[in-house]
Amino acid sequence: MNAEIVAVGTELLLGQIANTNGAYLAQKLAGIGINVYYQTVVGDNPKRLEAVFKTAQNRSDLVILIGGLGPTKDDLTKQVVAHALGEDLVTDEDALAKITAFQEQSGRLNTPNNQLQALKLAHADTLPNATGFAVGDLYRDPDGADVVLLPGPPSEFTVMVDQQLMPRLMAKGTNQGVIFSKVMRFIGIGESELVTNLGDLIDAQTNPTIAPYAKVGEVTLRITATAKTQAEAEDKVNGMVEDVLERDRQYFYGYGDDNSLAQVVVHQLIDAQLTVTAAESLTAGEFQSTLGDVPGVSAVFPGGFVTYANEAKVSLLSIPQHIVDDFGVVSEETAVWMAQQAKLKLATDVAVSFTGVAGPDKLEGQPAGTVWIGIAFKDQPAEAHLYHFANGRAQIRRSSVLTGLDLIRQ
Ligand code: ATP
Ligand code: MG
Repeated sequence: MNAEIVAVGTELLLGQIANTNGAYLAQKLAGIGINVYYQTVVGDNPKRLEAVFKTAQNRSDLVILIGGLGPTKDDLTKQVVAHALGEDLVTDEDALAKITAFQEQSGRLNTPNNQLQALKLAHADTLPNATGFAVGDLYRDPDGADVVLLPGPPSEFTVMVDQQLMPRLMAKGTNQGVIFSKVMRFIGIGESELVTNLGDLIDAQTNPTIAPYAKVGEVTLRITATAKTQAEAEDKVNGMVEDVLERDRQYFYGYGDDNSLAQVVVHQLIDAQLTVTAAESLTAGEFQSTLGDVPGVSAVFPGGFVTYANEAKVSLLSIPQHIVDDFGVVSEETAVWMAQQAKLKLATDVAVSFTGVAGPDKLEGQPAGTVWIGIAFKDQPAEAHLYHFANGRAQIRRSSVLTGLDLIRQ
């Protein structure tokens, strides 16, 4: 099944607002295995909207229009689509009752244009609007494309997508039945290397499909299968997950869209009752701030050090001056001392340290992206690892933070 998204609005066309709804929906559709082949933006103009709609109808199985369901003159999506489909517009009584009740309760005038928001295509299912008044439509066409109409305001749009549209699309599934997908998250391996490792699986993919996605410092794979039953679809996905793990288990850290590496690591520390601290130079507190994003971290994180300048490394961490002088700030020795001293000062079980060149300028003759990350575990001497990160200051610091988390995880 392939889908097309049509976002309606002159303000989108002119770039005054970004088409965030289109991006949101495309991701959701990909997540359930529906391919989006086209996205179009068109202004509030009935002729051009109708032309775009007809083109979409001819080349896609599912056409989803966003915006222009409101009560004002420029909101004409329903009227244009009804005309193109040869459908009447009828009033959805529940939606009308909701509008009327609101008008009475708020003492607003019962203007007829507000009631336009209760109109729906005669043969469509109504998609109720939990956070607004304009109803959406799901129109099934046995011979042509299915058509969906959704409201433009993101607060109404996202709720309708999540609560109304996605369950209906998933219940129908694609033409093959039920869709199931799982997101696998990897750290410490680049997208191209991961894709190379999985090359034959990816080349042979049909069902399940494997979709890699690179984020800053990590890679995700979305594995999606369709089958007649939920259990069958899950089996297919889990089979592929096993194949992937067989090759890249060491880089895998968790499932899910939102499960961050910090979350995984903090929960590991909480379960193992291990406390953690950090001494940060180039990351300037970003590592500790990332730990702080995870609820419950206070059980394992007493605090830590931001030691940007050499003097701070010496005064706050009591690193001997000659270490910094002799070996340099961007050095294995400094990273080891930073981790060791941080662990000692706060008496934690684990300590991580970061020292390196965030850039853009060189430091001590070393190029931006050169980073030493130290790690000290309870009762073991600290060690440090050298990395070469890229893509500018922000990503170098972010990659350092994620790599520090990854060192704890291992
Ligand atoms: P309303 O009842 O508010 O008129 P509507 O369904 O008619 O809603 P539009 O008039 O097209 O929708 O858009 C309403 C507002 O929603 C726009 O001003 C814009 O801020 C936002 N919006 C519309 N489409 C999008 C989109 N594709 N992405 C992000 N925001 C959007
Ligand atoms: Mg509008």
